[in-house]
This record gives sequence, structure tokens and C-alpha cells, in this order.
Amino acid sequence: MKILVIEDEKKIASLIRKGLEAQGFVVDVCHHGDEGFTAVTTRPYDAVVLDIMLPGRDGLSILRNLRERRLAVPVILLTARSELNERLEGLNLGADDYLTKPFFIEELIARLHVVTRRAAGASHSILTVADLAVNLLTREVVRAGRHIELTAREFELLQHLARSPGRVLTRPQICERVWNYDFDPGTNLVEVYIQRLRKKVDGEGETKLIETIRGVGYRMKPDA
Ligand code: CA
Repeated sequence: MKILVIEDEKKIASLIRKGLEAQGFVVDVCHHGDEGFTAVTTRPYDAVVLDIMLPGRDGLSILRNLRERRLAVPVILLTARSELNERLEGLNLGADDYLTKPFFIEELIARLHVVTRRAAGASHSILTVADLAVNLLTREVVRAGRHIELTAREFELLQHLARSPGRVLTRPQICERVWNYDFDPGTNLVEVYIQRLRKKVDGEGETKLIETIRGVGYRMKPDA
């Protein structure tokens, strides 16, 4: 796996390089934003580790530009503890994850595995059901040109339903996949989230895409 690290603090960059190389990753390092941007837009990488504060082009500007170009390479942002706004902006711009410095190299490696696995599984990264599109990489949800804002859990729930339209997901399956509960919490948690999702996804006058199968569970309406 080939990773690009864009980080101007040479000590951190070098620790990352050593840690990743020890795990068999192939690593390129850039210490300057402009140099990093050129690298990521001209060479294929499996993931990018991107610092925010950089000389030249900063991390968020690199990320924005990548996503505008529809380059879906997974990006993990490195942020300082004080950079809360930048972190949120980065996630909104389509960063796949972030780590707050200082961090353990093991954690970076674990997250790299997650984001690259996710990207590989999402080679078809946009799920569509009728006029609804769920982008698994940017987490953007659009129905008939209308952008839909979802919370993280709502998004998880929607993507599980949208993965296989027509297939019913039972309540315990939803609990397990969306909340990682391997037990039924015995509350109406799932119902509450389904209601919220419906309000957002099925607008006035639109076909109802989220169906209740009584006594069984829920599904997305199969494509006509
Ligand atoms: Ca920096």
C-alpha cells in the first residue's frame, strides 16, 4: 500500500515514515503544501496523511481541491488539539478521518487500514435508490437535487438500507450494524431513527423510499 504523508514538521514526518515502513507500507513524504498537492494529484496513492498547517498550500485547501476534482483518495487529517474548527471543516470537506497530535503510530496504522479497506469496498462509492444518491466517500446525500443533512447515525442507518434495496433489515440487524449492539436494547431506538430519517429523506409529494415491513423490519423500496 502506497501512502503519501504531507507534514512539514520533519520529526513527525520521519516518525510516521518509519512506523509505516516497518508495517510494509510504501511511503512518500512531502514537507511543503504545494509539493504535496502536486504529488497527490499526479501519482496514485492508497491514502494520504495530511497535516493542516503547512507552508504553501494548507491541508484544507489541498483536501477541498482534491474533492472538487472528484479524487476520492482516502485522507486522514493530522490536527492540533486547538484546531477544532479546522477538524470539522475537514470532515465536511470529505476527510475520511482525523488524528489529533500527538498520537500513537499504531493508531494511525489502524485507521489507515480502515479507510483503505472502506475505499476498496466502496469502489462503487455511490449508492442509488430511485432518485436518492448516497455517496459513501463524501457522505453526501442528495435526493432529486435536494441536499439532505444527516447526523452520523442517520447516515449509517441510511447507507445500510440503501446497500440492498428491497432487502429487509430486522431491528436486531440494524442495532448491530448501526449501533454495534449485539443485543436488542429493548427500546424504540430504531423506530425513532427511522422516523427521523423518513422526515428528511421522504419529502412532501415524493415517493416514500423507506418502507416498514410490519413485524419484520425496514427496507428501501426496491427499484421499480
Ligand atoms: Ca504543520
